[in-house]
Amino acid sequence: MASINSNFLKLKAGYLFPEIARRVNAFTEANPSDAAKLIRCGIGDVTEPLPEAVRKAMHDGVDEQGNRETFKGYGPEQGYGFLREAIVENQYADLGISADEVFVSDGSKCDSGNILDIFGPGNRIAVTDPVYPVYVDTNVMAGNTGEADANGSYEGLLYLPCTAENGFVADLPSEKVDLIYLCFPNNPTGTVATREQLKAWVDYAKANDSIILFDAAYEAFIQDPEIPHSIFEIEGAKDCCIEFRSFSKNGGFTGVRCAYTVIPKTVTGAAADGSRVPLHQLWGRRHSTKFNGASYPVQKGAAAVFSAEGKAQVAALIEHYMGNAALLREACTTAGLTVFGGENAPYVWVACPEGTDSWGMFDKMLNQAQVVITPGAGFGAAGEGYFRISAFNSREKVEEVCQRIATVFG
Ligand SMILES: *Cc1c(COP(=O)(O)O)cnc(C)c1O
Repeated sequence: MASINSNFLKLKAGYLFPEIARRVNAFTEANPSDAAKLIRCGIGDVTEPLPEAVRKAMHDGVDEQGNRETFKGYGPEQGYGFLREAIVENQYADLGISADEVFVSDGSKCDSGNILDIFGPGNRIAVTDPVYPVYVDTNVMAGNTGEADANGSYEGLLYLPCTAENGFVADLPSEKVDLIYLCFPNNPTGTVATREQLKAWVDYAKANDSIILFDAAYEAFIQDPEIPHSIFEIEGAKDCCIEFRSFSKNGGFTGVRCAYTVIPKTVTGAAADGSRVPLHQLWGRRHSTKFNGASYPVQKGAAAVFSAEGKAQVAALIEHYMGNAALLREACTTAGLTVFGGENAPYVWVACPEGTDSWGMFDKMLNQAQVVITPGAGFGAAGEGYFRISAFNSREKVEEVCQRIATVFG
């Protein structure tokens, strides 16, 4: 008899998106004539086509694979040098990160989950609330938590509330934690942390010998020149931080798959005997054993994001989505709703009007506007009272959503 990893049984059976799908299906069955009007602003997935420079580079990569002279089999597990160097040159210039501290992968979701392989049991782990569910669920799977309570919060994790009062940047824990997940610009709140706020976190991590797992998947959406794009812009971060980045949201790679994790060689954790071991070494070993590299044509496509044409095309995509975010912010504000985020991120985080909870707002938007949003409570207990509108959409659909918001709340 094969026993299973019983930690999986603690997981709330993918509560958020299945429940959204269930309510949307019930609505379309009851109102078949309205089904065609439905506009989805729920899931955080890009909508616009892949940049031409990327497609061209991927085509070239495929053609190389069709030629004996240029054919490539297994590549380096950590990624091709051309991509790692392009990443360092374009994303980490002057930050003292070297190409061999960059590990290319097929996604940040995988990386931010898999990173737990290199950490031992018994770590005190902090997540923000609301939170990207991957950080929580992967800790549940790894056995780092107890059971979930009625709110879906797991025993053993430290939840750091992000509220309007703290500007959706978690306050420093009053206790010592070993691992902290931070995501800026944030999914789901669309808010950012200032240099001073990130410095306070890095100082905390150094003082408490903790590791910050910094998810920068949305850095390309930052408009404010004062907001750091990388945690490594903060002094001391190279001693205590790991950064995750992805081509998914800037280059539109959600269906192509390419990302990377940066682990400076100076970041260490403690072995059982108290000796210090570089996390870079452990992650390198893990990557070589459990991963065989991202596809060559995909890495060619990712490198093209940093070509002159690629940069211009990605900038146009960002401008498109941020234009959507501005329209959504404006429509909500005009309708008398209180709005956060959406200025340096493709998500608008809206306070539910007095007397309506986040699933109540979901139902209202679905029934009265035929717009699918994401209820804040699905991202954690502190998300109650808010809903997320994604700016990943066509301009036409966003304009229609704005009109419907005006009709429903006006
Ligand atoms: C979309 C997203 C990512 C990117 O994930 P990929 O697996 O690279 O597509 C990472 N973190 C957050 C918070 C995201 O929303």
